[in-house]
Amino acid sequence: MRVICILLAGATLLVSSSAQQPQGGIVSGPGQLLALGKGQTQATQINDSIYMAIGFGNTYMVTTPEGNVIIDTSLRPNGALHKRILKAANAGPVKYIILTHGHEDHRGSVEMWKEEGTQIIAQKNYGEFLHYMNRLKGFFGGRNAAQFGGALGAPPTPPNGNYGAAIDATILLDDKYEFELGGVKFEVYSTPGETYDHLTVWIPQFKAAFTGDNYYTSFPNIYTLRGTKPRWALDYVESLEKVLALKPDLVLPSHGAIVKGADEVRAKLTQYRDAILYVHDATVKGMNEGKDVFTLMQEIRLPKELDIGEGYGTIAWSVRGIYEGYAGWFDGNPSTMYSIPPSAVYPEIVQMAGGPEAVAARANALVASGKFIEGLHLADMALEADAANQTALKARLAALEALFNASFNSNEKGWLAYGIRETKGEIR
Ligand SMILES: [Zn+2]
Repeated sequence: MRVICILLAGATLLVSSSAQQPQGGIVSGPGQLLALGKGQTQATQINDSIYMAIGFGNTYMVTTPEGNVIIDTSLRPNGALHKRILKAANAGPVKYIILTHGHEDHRGSVEMWKEEGTQIIAQKNYGEFLHYMNRLKGFFGGRNAAQFGGALGAPPTPPNGNYGAAIDATILLDDKYEFELGGVKFEVYSTPGETYDHLTVWIPQFKAAFTGDNYYTSFPNIYTLRGTKPRWALDYVESLEKVLALKPDLVLPSHGAIVKGADEVRAKLTQYRDAILYVHDATVKGMNEGKDVFTLMQEIRLPKELDIGEGYGTIAWSVRGIYEGYAGWFDGNPSTMYSIPPSAVYPEIVQMAGGPEAVAARANALVASGKFIEGLHLADMALEADAANQTALKARLAALEALFNASFNSNEKGWLAYGIRETKGEIR
């Protein structure tokens, strides 16, 4: 598991489902996403020049008479299969690799594709993005491991200093970079969103936009539970507008299905942009009205016409991501300025309430009545007083399992599965 988890550092996942109405099947958790495209025997041909290998994420190949361009390279475990089926479609030399951003599910197989003289194109912040992920290798390694089936803990390899990442890009673009190959013109635009090193590839003659992770079939992960610097909602909005202004007939995202037809593209991308802007503006409005983050997480909902599903990102996490992205962690209560957290007094409260067993019994009752999150909090209080309390551990497990079974969100399921594994390990 460790190998997979390190490979996944920085990866993003996607499922096409909504919290209310899953499309494409029930999500069993992040493992299902890693198996995407495993059975492919040939590349999907999109038009005369564009081919796709499906995976987590997709690899695209644009062919020209003078050689080919690869757009994103997928996770390392997918690289060999993607290369085999795309090379079978067209064995021309790889002249350029364009990386929509520095997440591992996009750059993981660069080494496999690189040939003598291949140019690697990335956006100007790519280097800093790789350094950032390398700098926090231990932290992200543990978080990724937990979310994808392992334990929460630092991996054995220490980070390599503050600026120790190996930067493989040979061309870094500022706002725009253009080139021509075999009569095909490529325009590459800086489009920050999912990351601050994000770009979009535009091929005017096909009216095709390769949009990386700035569009997929779920509300975006404006905050990811793996941990991330703030992803600016207004960057997504501006970048989606930049793509819309190109008037594409074809949108080729790095995860999920292609969007075809000018009308469909305009409708989908406009809805996506408006959904993000709605959540951003509602959060800002609430902040200016003096509302706290938890109130806004509960209050803000998308209107029906902007419901783009929550199979991957959620509105509530995004509200908190936007709120804390703007304001940081302090909530205005002087108690929270200090390093002693509320949980430090849980044992006192538990004692006053009759001891861990009594509190755990109440936690079980809450879970049994359907108040899973309240039961989870109360079980945590009892466990703060007595970490081995079996009644509290069983209440915690029951709450986590109920939440897991009710969830259609792959990230939420990943963390609930982690909690379930850890709790089961403590039950005797
Ligand atoms: Zn991705």
